[in-house]
Amino acid sequence: MGELQSDSLQSLGHTCVLGLGRTGEGVARYLAGLLGGRVASVTLYGGANSHEGEATRALEDLGVRVICGTEQVEGSYDLAVVSPGIPQDSAFFRAAQAHAREVVGEPEFAWRESPDRWIAITGTNGKTTTTLLTTSLLRTGGYAAEAVGNVGTLVTGEVPGRQEGSWFVTELSSFQLATTTRLHPRVACLLNITPDHVEWHGSMEAYAAAKERVFANLEQGDLAVVSCEDAYCRAIVERLQERGLRVCVVAVHRDPQTPCAAFVRDRRLVVRLDGKEHALVACESLAIKGEHNVQNALAASACALEVGVPEDAVSHGLMLFSPLEHRIEPCGSIGGVAFVDDSKATNVDSVAKALTAFAPGRVIVLLGGHDKGTELESLAHVVSARCKAAVCYGEAGPRIAEALRDEDGDMGLVVLQAEHLSDAVQQARERALSGDVVLLSPACSSFDEFANYHERGVRFKELVQAMREDAGVSR
Ligand code: ADP
Repeated sequence: MGELQSDSLQSLGHTCVLGLGRTGEGVARYLAGLLGGRVASVTLYGGANSHEGEATRALEDLGVRVICGTEQVEGSYDLAVVSPGIPQDSAFFRAAQAHAREVVGEPEFAWRESPDRWIAITGTNGKTTTTLLTTSLLRTGGYAAEAVGNVGTLVTGEVPGRQEGSWFVTELSSFQLATTTRLHPRVACLLNITPDHVEWHGSMEAYAAAKERVFANLEQGDLAVVSCEDAYCRAIVERLQERGLRVCVVAVHRDPQTPCAAFVRDRRLVVRLDGKEHALVACESLAIKGEHNVQNALAASACALEVGVPEDAVSHGLMLFSPLEHRIEPCGSIGGVAFVDDSKATNVDSVAKALTAFAPGRVIVLLGGHDKGTELESLAHVVSARCKAAVCYGEAGPRIAEALRDEDGDMGLVVLQAEHLSDAVQQARERALSGDVVLLSPACSSFDEFANYHERGVRFKELVQAMREDAGVSR
């Protein structure tokens, strides 16, 4: 199976693109590159709030017809490619459906253009870590691999320069999966389905169904890698098994006894594929900490072994892979107190998982930020069970503090409140003793105080660095 070159693919005819963000612009550029060949015309609709500027002029120079300031699609198209920010039930999306023979999302489009050797990774949490780890394991094994998709690299943008024989390790969000139809990865991985975006998603069922679409087109020789740690995933495992597919069940705590499985035995990572076992490194050898990272490492190892990476390269790659920024990232210590940035933890499950990376009773956790209506009962339960103190700050701070006090009674958890992140860090520092960990794992998004989780994490690290300098700790 050679690489499918664009010109051997079918004609795309008259095309339109919805959205003028990174996705829309990237797809329009790609299509413009095919004008005069497989593409007859490219029209980009920027949407109601878009206007002309440098970006639109650059596209027009490439031959794209750009229409700004409206969601009224006119004319008739063979294909419309829609950016992930445009919901399927929006008037804009429906306008595209009324005027195009087919409407697809960007990953679906990219897959059609270059369908070989895809590993697709989805889940509520752990997507980026697992995508980058899988890519790294493939490279350690000598394979060409690119991490693409929701990790921040538009898949379509990577298609023209794709190296012969290379793998696309693609992170897919539920929004992206909602618009897939034929996308058919060779290996598809689902890490978990737990509540998130309560404000955004109408129902958990619709959210879970979007994630399940990653498996829709798998066939006999392919592999599904699925966690069995939550009820939604367990139901999906059953449905995949009923379809007669090969399902590698990922279970951190026990051997699931299936022909394909990834699990921990005697503190060692084990992957079994069609009955053949691969004993990998010990959990303690992973540089990424916490039970959730064991799960990510198991899933990534299964993906890598399945496509042929040798066992010793997988083990080697697992030991080399270090924590990503803002995901349980150590950022220095002062007087024996370690400071850790887990700013990416924007929901309850990721905080619960982060706490497994540290000794019980030694963590002072910083919780708070934008209040997205998160259910706090399970958060209060896990924080009370594993932390020494919690500093609750920001918009959600008071609600979280109240939930923690209700849960803990007089069990000994110290609950403090602060207005902003900087006071929260200060209060945590004052409370911490040598051997403690101050962990920013806020369970909330950051929009009340910051542009995004990255900015929040950077600010946290700056505050820690300033305290280190005050304390005379060298870099
Ligand atoms: P995503 O791309 O799905 O947002 P990341 O790898 O960026 O996932 O991690 C996001 C947050 O979720 C981090 O705070 C991390 O600690 C936590 N996390 C990572 N992997 C898992 C997992 N398998 N289960 C639960 N939480 C996880």
